[in-house]
Amino acid sequence: MSKPPSSSETVGQWPGLSTQAPLDPHRVGFDFDGVIADVAEAFLRIACRDYDYCSITIEDITSFELERCLPMDKKVVEAIFSTILHDSVGNDLRPLPGAIETLNHLGERSPITVITARPVLQPVRDWFAAHCPGRIARRIELIATGDHDNKESFIRKCGLRHFIDDRASTCRQLAAAGLEPIVYSQPWNSRQHDLPAVVNWQEIAWLFDLPDPL
Ligand SMILES: [Mg+2]
Repeated sequence: MSKPPSSSETVGQWPGLSTQAPLDPHRVGFDFDGVIADVAEAFLRIACRDYDYCSITIEDITSFELERCLPMDKKVVEAIFSTILHDSVGNDLRPLPGAIETLNHLGERSPITVITARPVLQPVRDWFAAHCPGRIARRIELIATGDHDNKESFIRKCGLRHFIDDRASTCRQLAAAGLEPIVYSQPWNSRQHDLPAVVNWQEIAWLFDLPDPL
């Protein structure tokens, strides 16, 4: 997605979105891992530290099912994700650049809805408490669906129109259901969709006409 002519001219439509920019923050939800949190960095760091897989890079992760694209047993992949998912703060899961700054700006304007497929919510709650000021963390509504393929009903219940997610098949499902997903570009979703996409939190900030966080 390219930047509009200028923030003072955001009267047109964003490419591929049927809505006027800037987006209404009340109508936009966010996935957590791979959008807000840099789960790939944590995965690769723990893969090297605990399992001696030290030569893998993020560009090698070309599938959401990591065992399909990495020379790694599915059990090891699951063990690493379990480590991250059950103690995200303790394992130093980091925010993607600009995510916290932009969420802090958004949180001043509206509640923030985060819908994750994770099965356990508390580590995400702890993560936001560690990374955001208390008044912002309290405005973040967190939902854990426990399933990658059932986000639509939660998105509708929350009254959202747009959802930013890094899993291409989730975004394709949402688009087929009449919602307006925005793909957060990652190596594991490139060339797997023809949907609107953002490459970083600078572009997400532009969507809301917020200050550049990077
Ligand atoms: Mg994700």
